[in-house]
Amino acid sequence: MPWPLALRVWGEGVGQGGRLPSVDQGRQKDRTLMTRQPTASRLRVLRTGDPQSMFHYHHPKEILERLGRPSRLLSSSAKSEKSRSVDVLSRSMYLTPGVFCPRASEGCLRACLGHTSGRMTMLQSANARDRRTALYAVDQEHFMDLLRCDLRLLREDARREGMTPAVRLNGTSDAQWETLHGELFVEFDDIDFYDYTKVPSRVRQFLLGRRGLSDFPFNYHLTFSLSETNAAEARSLLAEGAGVAVVFWPSLPETYWGYPVIDGDKHDARFLDDEEAPTRGGYVVGLRAKGIAREDLSGFVVQQAGEPASVKRGVAA
Ligand code: SF4
Repeated sequence: MPWPLALRVWGEGVGQGGRLPSVDQGRQKDRTLMTRQPTASRLRVLRTGDPQSMFHYHHPKEILERLGRPSRLLSSSAKSEKSRSVDVLSRSMYLTPGVFCPRASEGCLRACLGHTSGRMTMLQSANARDRRTALYAVDQEHFMDLLRCDLRLLREDARREGMTPAVRLNGTSDAQWETLHGELFVEFDDIDFYDYTKVPSRVRQFLLGRRGLSDFPFNYHLTFSLSETNAAEARSLLAEGAGVAVVFWPSLPETYWGYPVIDGDKHDARFLDDEEAPTRGGYVVGLRAKGIAREDLSGFVVQQAGEPASVKRGVAA
């Protein structure tokens, strides 16, 4: 049944108190669009930390008019290519970082790998992320058709290469796909989906699902992601047995908060971590800071000594 979807660009409530320099604050209040969408879902479009994103200045419809519609949604990356080493053919969907990230912190908005590392810093990549994101906001049905096409192609490619097909829908976002489009996981039950998230309730549902206590999709793996604002939630989830991703610089410690650290840069197939983790309980997925994230001062990146930079510098976390 069609459902009115309120899209609030640069919505309030997330990362409040922080100010991104390129955001036109004066235009925030009136930036609400009402569109008709084919599925019963509600989604708030939030701000982005990507300085090249057109979401700073334009409505999704305007972005599509300027950039055109995308023809593909899934891409490979240097990180996903590493998953070949564990016989996994992995693809990711890169949307505009921060736009669909309800728990993004000021630090992660600024240091997000989705716009600070490698090819992600190029204008061409920023435009590609914007047009995908704008399409979801404007025409969800077309977006989901494209996604299904890409998933079928991946399935075929993986079969030809004798690998396990895997997809990160939230390569640079944190949308609740299990709620928004739960049918996808049933339709493609031979694909391993995996994501990082900063939404604790998602991880709890995932953990419950592993024990048969929730209907969280069995083929969707979630790893919680630490930022400078969610340490208490991360500790709590570790104690409950979750994997928590932590960005370190310049190197990975062997343990963090008493939990074993596995090297998350070896490959991106996070759904294999449960098997690789040295214990059956919680574990930390260590990732090395890349790009300008190495210069992070917010505490999003944990310095080698093992304490968030904010703690070391006496800044409130
Ligand atoms: S929540 Fe994740 S994807 Fe979103 S802006 Fe922060 S680091 Fe990037």
